[in-house]
Amino acid sequence: METHLADFIRDTPDGIEADAILRACVHCGFCTATCPTYQLLGDELDGPRGRIYLIKEMLEGATPTAKSRLHLDRCLTCRACETTCPSGVKYGRLADIGRDVVEKRATPRPLRQRLLRRALRYGLTRRWLFDPLMALGQALRPALPASLQAKVPRRREAGPWPGTIHDERMLLLDGCVQPAMMPRINAATARVLDKAGISLVIARDAGCCGAIQQHLADREGALSRMRQNIDAWIPYLNQGITTIVVNASGCAAMIAEYGHLLRDDPEYAEKAARVSAAMRDVSQVVAGVHDRLLPQLVRAPFPRAAFHPPCTLQHALQIRGTVEALFKAAGIDLFVPRDAHLCCGSAGTYSIFEPAIATRLRNDKLAKLAELGAPVIVSANIGCIAHLQGGTAAPVLHWIEVLDDALMARHVVNDGLTRSP
Ligand code: SF4
Ligand code: SF4
Repeated sequence: METHLADFIRDTPDGIEADAILRACVHCGFCTATCPTYQLLGDELDGPRGRIYLIKEMLEGATPTAKSRLHLDRCLTCRACETTCPSGVKYGRLADIGRDVVEKRATPRPLRQRLLRRALRYGLTRRWLFDPLMALGQALRPALPASLQAKVPRRREAGPWPGTIHDERMLLLDGCVQPAMMPRINAATARVLDKAGISLVIARDAGCCGAIQQHLADREGALSRMRQNIDAWIPYLNQGITTIVVNASGCAAMIAEYGHLLRDDPEYAEKAARVSAAMRDVSQVVAGVHDRLLPQLVRAPFPRAAFHPPCTLQHALQIRGTVEALFKAAGIDLFVPRDAHLCCGSAGTYSIFEPAIATRLRNDKLAKLAELGAPVIVSANIGCIAHLQGGTAAPVLHWIEVLDDALMARHVVNDGLTRSP
């Protein structure tokens, strides 16, 4: 695609990157076939090709309007279009650049939206604030209206953190909202890796990966989070720890990009690249030590499960088939639904800002998962798990919780499933 970027951006790092991405697009439209918002809304401007045009026009000098902002807001950043694109167009990066331009050059958003976006950027990323609010919400859950209940998962006990200290250590990102919403995921990760002879270390000053700010077009806030995490982790990498385990694929996808996003920061570029290189999704870590775990498997808690592979796992990190293989070895058949490439509608804070689209996508996903006839749904990202759980009575778990159960021969989920022997 021919481009003529405007002076305000042409020679900037964003302009150079966006120009290369735009020029790679041959306008074939293959990507529209796998775009969830295009499938639902049927508008070219709610598909990747149309959004690419909108961004191109803005970067060539057109003033962004509220309408162009709406079409970009409706994008889930699921990156299914990247997986489909035969020309390797990096749509996700282009969308980030386009959103930044919209925030800076369009007329300001309505006051209510601005306040809500600010509240989410602040409240979701600070544990001292989010943890007590979630605990209160969980305590009052039965009295909450259904719409709020759907956002507040039932509390599941985390269970014990392993006491043994092994020589082999890895860092764990414990995240921002996950410890309060579903503390069992981190504890299960620690127990599974303990069985493999690995201890997890949580760096005290590490926190939110930055994805929430990044998706809300607060680039400076996101970069500041990234630098904070890098400062927290680099001393451990210098001591010889080689791996940062991440058990939310959305956060893993974000950390994988630290090196790229901080490439022009003279102080952080090299450290950011080191952190990205050390990051591993927990499925990759467990696959790497599977031979140590296999002999310890005691009992599969159920014979089959339905799997929703998050977009960040399959499209951003391009990890496919790993969890399925781990489950097969554990004696559990893991099935993916029809149209598994489509987003469930969670997409970070998307379900808060675009509830109608998010609910349609969730209901569609749950209907296809239900076709598989499994007693439990598993996924790999806190956002997807919480979002799906809000629309079904069937248990929705992180797959690491199930593997933890298979290793410990118990089942702590009190939702009508088989219990411990
Ligand atoms: S599939 Fe790729 S090259 Fe074709 S229109 Fe979509 S982004 Fe452009
Ligand atoms: S990221 Fe997802 S929602 Fe956005 S244009 Fe691509 S396929 Fe469509």
